[in-house]
Amino acid sequence: MTQSVDVAIIGGGIIGNTVAYFLAKEGLSVAILEAAKIASGSTKAAAGMLGAHSEFTGNSAFYSFAKESQYLYERIRSEVEKLSGIAFEHTKGGILQFNHQKGEPIHFKGKHILPEVIRRSIPNVNVPQDGGFLFTEDIHIHPIKTCYAFSYAARALGVSIYENTPVFSIDEDVIQTPSFELQANHIVITAGIESRSLLPLHLSGVKGQCMKLEAPGVTLPYTLFYEGTYMLQRVDGTLVVGATMELDDSEGITADGQESLALIAESFLHGSSQFKVLDRWYGFRPKTIDDLPYIGLIPNSTNVYVATGHFRNGILLAPATAKLIKDFILKNDISEEFLTAFNPGRGIATYQYN
Ligand SMILES: Cc1cc2nc3c(=O)[nH]c(=O)nc-3n(C[C@H](O)[C@H](O)[C@H](O)COP(=O)(O)OP(=O)(O)OC[C@H]3O[C@@H](n4cnc5c(N)ncnc54)[C@H](O)[C@@H]3O)c2cc1C
Repeated sequence: MTQSVDVAIIGGGIIGNTVAYFLAKEGLSVAILEAAKIASGSTKAAAGMLGAHSEFTGNSAFYSFAKESQYLYERIRSEVEKLSGIAFEHTKGGILQFNHQKGEPIHFKGKHILPEVIRRSIPNVNVPQDGGFLFTEDIHIHPIKTCYAFSYAARALGVSIYENTPVFSIDEDVIQTPSFELQANHIVITAGIESRSLLPLHLSGVKGQCMKLEAPGVTLPYTLFYEGTYMLQRVDGTLVVGATMELDDSEGITADGQESLALIAESFLHGSSQFKVLDRWYGFRPKTIDDLPYIGLIPNSTNVYVATGHFRNGILLAPATAKLIKDFILKNDISEEFLTAFNPGRGIATYQYN
């Protein structure tokens, strides 16, 4: 028998679950179809920084969108935590960016922190002569717990979640899964890098490796960040060190990657490469043609949307993405800036139903 919903979401990572939550809040009936388990894709590998400033590379739409997302996280966090019973584990403190060392321009002035002040609060820190810039809004959260929080909150609002349910094809408003057929008025593809198996999308994976360290006696009042690498502290006191950026399709961690992480750790904190390694992992960042996500209706369709390609920033951009998809579906006003910057047509040559 064909089931039917207002919106079917394909992919249960941070984007799919956040979209489901936002739509369910509007009273729509929603189903998530996830090929494996919730948060088993790129979301599982993320550090969880909400780095609107540290990740800024010059695109103003990215910045407005990232700031909106930070604001939305702040606004909805307690309601999602309460509904789900899961804490995001957000940390205050922000990101301390060391990037004057190589004369890189810094686009937004954070609060300048002198090296001696940093050394006083973090013994053994390796700090450039000109100190760092602190962006207090760039907090971090636990990505897997946050994804589950949105998922449980969505479920509490009536969203049906089907794990181990891969989608192989979409036929206008009907989705085929191995075990059932689903009719949906709207379909949102949030399958991360695998969205390219459902649409002819230009997406590539950029591998990132991370590690988690036991850090006895270390307290980081902020995340340390330098040229895309970072050391952050989770609420349990462990340190996450990341991440490599590799054009390598192969699965698994590598000796070279893990060696780079030990160097990154040491570059932030003397002696930290000797800390006990508690975990090592990798994932693939879904990268688009211009590093901005694809969000919106796909060309020549009136009911199939895509929201993917968030590259290094899917955790950061999840709430703003969910709001944008909600605005498309409810036909609310959308800014020209976002319509243009995130138009999926940039990355889809032609669209045909499978
Ligand atoms: C090492 C590393 C560190 C990162 N750090 C950060 C960070 O600090 N901050 C930040 O904002 N971002 C970070 N990111 C990026 C972030 O992880 C991604 O941008 C984000 O997780 C993408 O989420 P998603 O929901 O689009 O994709 P995914 O998490 O990959 O979810 C897609 C889901 O779709 C499912 N799926 C695939 N195909 C199908 C199908 N045919 N049918 C049904 N389901 C399907 C998959 O199983 C998967 O669960 C990092 C990434 C990496 C690799």
